[in-house]
Amino acid sequence: MIEIPARRGKAVQVKKGQKVKVINTRGQQVVDTWVFNTADLREFMSMDHSRVAIGRIIPGIGDALVTNKRRPILTLVEDTSGGIHDTLFAACDRWRYEALGCAGYHDNCTDNLAAGLAALGLEPPETPAPLNLFMNIPVIDGNRVEVRPPVSTPGSYVTLRAEMDCIVAFSACPQDLVPINGLDMRPTEAHFELLD
Ligand SMILES: [Zn+2]
Repeated sequence: MIEIPARRGKAVQVKKGQKVKVINTRGQQVVDTWVFNTADLREFMSMDHSRVAIGRIIPGIGDALVTNKRRPILTLVEDTSGGIHDTLFAACDRWRYEALGCAGYHDNCTDNLAAGLAALGLEPPETPAPLNLFMNIPVIDGNRVEVRPPVSTPGSYVTLRAEMDCIVAFSACPQDLVPINGLDMRPTEAHFELLD
């Protein structure tokens, strides 16, 4: 098992057909997830295109998420977390924390994506909207969105199958100003495992 340290990012090369098991070690940690085509980083998993492909806003078992070229890149094959994830919210960034009144630098998922890829000698072409695993953003009355704590429990996980050779990047979201990562608002580590 590989740790995604609290408030940090981590990226890994994944071969077509391999699976990535993402574990919510302590139960309340949101894990922002990005996937890039290894052969061309400008092709990446797109939440906009995926919602069209799957016909809903939260992927379920068997749903294939697609790239900005509408090709399947990642399929959700297992989920013990309660099935609540988010595809609507952008990754947090320095400006999100500035807007929340944070003075000075705050760790953020956008910088974590860049750091995770940099460790592999790569650079993201942009910060795509992530698949926010375990993030609970219900749509109220078909329109309003709310920020709620995850419904996942310690040790629960999702398993994702790569549909092409790809780079998968994670960020253990450092959000501690709204209860995205639980009512304690204390970001924690998470883990992942590569399965053949
Ligand atoms: Zn974040």
